[in-house]
Amino acid sequence: MIIGVIGGGQLARMMIPAAVNLGIELRVLAETDGSSAALAATAVGDYHDLETVLEFVKGVDAVTFDHEHVPQSILRELVARGVHVHPGPDALLYAQDKLQMRQRLAALRVPMPDWARIEDAAALDTFLGEHGGRAVLKTATGGYDGKGVRVVSSSAGAADWLALGQPLLVEELVEFRRELAQLVARRPSGELVAWPVVESIQRDGVCVEVIAPAPSSAGRVADVAFEIAETIAGGLGVTGVLAVELFETTDERLLVNELAMRPHNTGHWTIDGAVTSQFENHLRGVLGLPLGSTATRAPWSVMVNILGGSVDDLNAASVDVLALDAGLKIHLYGKAVKPGRKVGHVNAYGHDLDDVLASAREAVARYEHGPQGAHA
Ligand code: ADP
Repeated sequence: MIIGVIGGGQLARMMIPAAVNLGIELRVLAETDGSSAALAATAVGDYHDLETVLEFVKGVDAVTFDHEHVPQSILRELVARGVHVHPGPDALLYAQDKLQMRQRLAALRVPMPDWARIEDAAALDTFLGEHGGRAVLKTATGGYDGKGVRVVSSSAGAADWLALGQPLLVEELVEFRRELAQLVARRPSGELVAWPVVESIQRDGVCVEVIAPAPSSAGRVADVAFEIAETIAGGLGVTGVLAVELFETTDERLLVNELAMRPHNTGHWTIDGAVTSQFENHLRGVLGLPLGSTATRAPWSVMVNILGGSVDDLNAASVDVLALDAGLKIHLYGKAVKPGRKVGHVNAYGHDLDDVLASAREAVARYEHGPQGAHA
């Protein structure tokens, strides 16, 4: 069986070992030579170009994605030509467009922050007036890692985005205690499996750490997070992995922030911390194969992202990092180091959360700052 992956980033890269183990051929359409997924790249080209994509998908059994940016027109053309696209365009739409997502989730009665679709300054001012004078403004499409998200307290602060003439999403500024993520995998038959709900810690709009399971989540929080993700996955007909980003509010409600329909940064811990990783279950879901166990290997798993810092040669730094703790698992993305860029992550798991966190943090500090680590 052959799966075609559109996009050559680290998510496509981490699908490669899962595909190898399943005996599946993975082909990647990468944006550039030397991408993270270059090992499996059979084509380099622009995914906005229909001819490039049609050429790429010849002979594949199913198509899936490293990102959600493939235009709907191209996805629909593939489906019209009989290509199996997972997740399909009808589902993926809601990971591509935050306004569509809010509308659809409202119909599914999923708990969300208060929101509105606005097109002009007057509408924004009205929303601000009704929500304590501050709100979160988002572009409907094209945002990632906090780009396309801005806290505003007046329409003047949004003049540049309003001038684009595109409808915008405005949301109440949620007072959250922490951010959680619930990942599930679903196959076309409807079978669904869920990993434990996790806590994700963000810095400057970028996920930096994940703790699995989220501390103090056993019971109600886990149940509600699961029910929300199950409702969304079934309601939208998602195939493969669905990540639901959630806010846990100070008054203990869970509200959906956004969706991703592909392996997600908050699921990288599953490579080492769960019986079946998100990458393997994504491929299984995409091919309609039975899904694997999401059971954890240890009471606690953590993932800490490596962001580009003062160390250029990550492989050289690995010598020092690996000597720190034989239980650490490193995952480097084969990317050139640039400030703040996600270039890898470290997973650790064990019985004591403080120990595994300290170990993974120290490893990452050495990748970011050199042998001085956290003391640099
Ligand atoms: P992106 O698509 O760029 O990841 P998100 O919609 O996930 O953007 O928002 C990025 C971050 O901004 C979130 O992780 C959260 O910390 C903050 N944020 C987003 N929406 C809200 C909101 N309604 N209230 C408070 N914080 C928010």
